[in-house]
Amino acid sequence: MADFQLTILGSNSAIFNHGRHPTAQFVHVNNTHFLIDCGEGTQERLVEHKVKWFKINYILISHLHGDHYFGLMGLLTTFNLLRRKEKLTIFGPKELKKIIQMHLKVSNAKLNFELKFIATNPDGKNLLLDLPNCTVFSFPLNHKIPTTGFIIQEKQFPRALDLEKIQQYDIDKSNYKCLIEGKDILDKNGKKIKNNEITKKQETIKSYAFCSDTIYDTSIVKYIKRASLLYHEATYMDRDKNRAKETMHSTTLQAAQIAKKAQVKKLIIGHFSSRYIQLEELETEAQTIFEETELALEGKTFKV
Ligand SMILES: [Zn+2]
Ligand SMILES: [Zn+2]
Repeated sequence: MADFQLTILGSNSAIFNHGRHPTAQFVHVNNTHFLIDCGEGTQERLVEHKVKWFKINYILISHLHGDHYFGLMGLLTTFNLLRRKEKLTIFGPKELKKIIQMHLKVSNAKLNFELKFIATNPDGKNLLLDLPNCTVFSFPLNHKIPTTGFIIQEKQFPRALDLEKIQQYDIDKSNYKCLIEGKDILDKNGKKIKNNEITKKQETIKSYAFCSDTIYDTSIVKYIKRASLLYHEATYMDRDKNRAKETMHSTTLQAAQIAKKAQVKKLIIGHFSSRYIQLEELETEAQTIFEETELALEGKTFKV
């Protein structure tokens, strides 16, 4: 089972306020590190919350409203100044490539590291990454401009290691891959061990679904079904639902409805409007529909 965690770096909508910052999240699945959205000041949040930010391999940008990507050029520049060498891949709307290229061109900057850009497709579910320990998909959200959500999913193997039973055998760790693939192996003395003696049926696959900015739209439910953890924006409270509709955002109750319909295990709400100083009432309101709701508080880490 993968070490799979999410850290909230920014939880407010458009403006910095009440000590809250624009959207950014850090996710790691074992040794693969993702930054999801990169609002202004994200690099400061990464340092403040002691995240292993230099290890970020992939940046996923949901859409091109400034509160979701204005921190990107600052972060890339800092990586360069600190002489990053490792390749970095950015996924985002196709126009983002031109924005990055233009910034680099006018400042005559040459990156020390390889920067790869892959445009997301705002229509349908699309596979972005197929890695040894996880897969990443994008799916469409319904907002003022083309926007995608992302789902990071632990990779499914036929079997899972039974860590208790495995202790009783003299097995080299290099065999673990064969074991999760369902194969029999030999112990250090060359004795055959049947796969089902030391493995068990794979438990539910863990997944994290991220829905950045979107109006209430039940068509997204099919993409996030039974996610272990769902982040869904809840910019407004129910009393401001007309404002939510006008601005193509969601309310606490709407985020909770989506979580309920998708039968997810846990919901995290964020992208809070600056009109709310205390956030507890947003949490309580969402819990009236979906009890397993928590606030996306900055610095907080969630196990997926
Ligand atoms: Zn936003
Ligand atoms: Zn937006």
